[in-house]
Amino acid sequence: MINRNRLSEVLEIEELLFEKLHPNSNNASKSNINSLVGGVPMPWMTRLPGSFPIHVRQARGAMFTDIDDIDYIDFCLGDTGSMIGHGVKEITEAISAQMSKGATTMLPTQDATWVGEELKRRFGLSKWQFAVSATDANRFVLRIARHLTKRPKILVHDWCYHGTVDETLVIADEHGQTISRSGAIGPQIDPALTTRVVPYNDLEALEIQLAHRDVACMLIEPALTNIGIVLPTPGYLEGVRRLTTKYGTLLIVDETHTICAGAGGCTELWGLKPDILVIGKSIGGGFPVAAYGLSDELATQLSSKIAEHDVDVSGIGGTLAGSALAMAAIKSTLTNCLLPEQFEITRSLATRWASGVQKSFSRHNLDWSVQQLGCRAEYWFCAPPVNGAQAAAASDPQLESFMHLWAINRGVFLTPFHNMALMSPFHTTDDVDKHTQIFNDALDTLAS
Ligand code: PMP
Repeated sequence: MINRNRLSEVLEIEELLFEKLHPNSNNASKSNINSLVGGVPMPWMTRLPGSFPIHVRQARGAMFTDIDDIDYIDFCLGDTGSMIGHGVKEITEAISAQMSKGATTMLPTQDATWVGEELKRRFGLSKWQFAVSATDANRFVLRIARHLTKRPKILVHDWCYHGTVDETLVIADEHGQTISRSGAIGPQIDPALTTRVVPYNDLEALEIQLAHRDVACMLIEPALTNIGIVLPTPGYLEGVRRLTTKYGTLLIVDETHTICAGAGGCTELWGLKPDILVIGKSIGGGFPVAAYGLSDELATQLSSKIAEHDVDVSGIGGTLAGSALAMAAIKSTLTNCLLPEQFEITRSLATRWASGVQKSFSRHNLDWSVQQLGCRAEYWFCAPPVNGAQAAAASDPQLESFMHLWAINRGVFLTPFHNMALMSPFHTTDDVDKHTQIFNDALDTLAS
């Protein structure tokens, strides 16, 4: 459907324009090569659109400004870390007030009580603890699940992402066997020893894997969001709950991204009943925190282990987890943000964004699609995929590079590695309409 010669031609034009627009970021990148591995502070930044990453001067609300003084509408929002918007006044004040009263002491503060109660109210899980990142929280709950069930394996969806957790950096090969993701650096051991993999939306495959009765837990995003948005087919999540219960496997729901569905994530929206729930990123308003909740029954089973003398080497916890600063960040975020009335606004912005993109597809006679989950929306260069492998096969790196660079060169930043937009309460209908306009212009340019 796309003229590849034309695509190469316009991509090259956008790459040159990007370099011309960003001399300061280009120089900063060149300096970084002297002291940073790969010239970047974090590995994935080598994959950002353009031949070097834009360097940010400051971010506010739904915008950021780069060191070349260009403003951007930010639809990435730190890939959910800043979903509530940048520099929210109440959170900035709460974090700085706590910082001046002491960041971390190895002792609990009273904020922890409020936070535990609020998480319980939102997600329904009975007892909570904390981690510094969603990755860590996932590592901890996998350990807890193996300990409680005395089973060795975990089960995940094909093409899932749950952070840099060894057992989860896997896909299924063409025979359904577990293999490492191609990008995984230095896997600890053969992940087939730790992990079973099933396609999303496939209850038959799930039952076959669970029937081995060696699976401690199934760790899922209720909707896939990390290989694009893939939504559950009717009955899938009910089937997952039924089968995990039938085979004695704990169900862990990772709401780190799917909190976009609403104040209680997909768990509240779809009435899910996980045994364990994990959430990171957004609940600290950008401050690094995560939480995991356990059902009453599991928390009771775990409590004697937690009380043992050598719990400090349990492989669960961390010096900065549950710190005074972390609790203050979560308390102020959940008090002021991620509230139902804010989701009403952000959900309708995402609907407007999705419908703008969809209309543009129709105008260009493109049989492509948009998926929305709450305040997150994503476009596909195909019909909506039903599982991760289909989603991965639909990826078109050259076309994606063009769409992202075209947007950046016109002041719009989408989530890298995705064709995705996330809405904060600071976004406006004008921001969304600007995206629609430039998106339409990009398709016009490709077709010309
Ligand atoms: N779970 C999910 C569903 C995620 O999308 C991510 C990150 N994209 C993580 C866990 C890991 O988060 P972090 O990198 O902050 O540890």
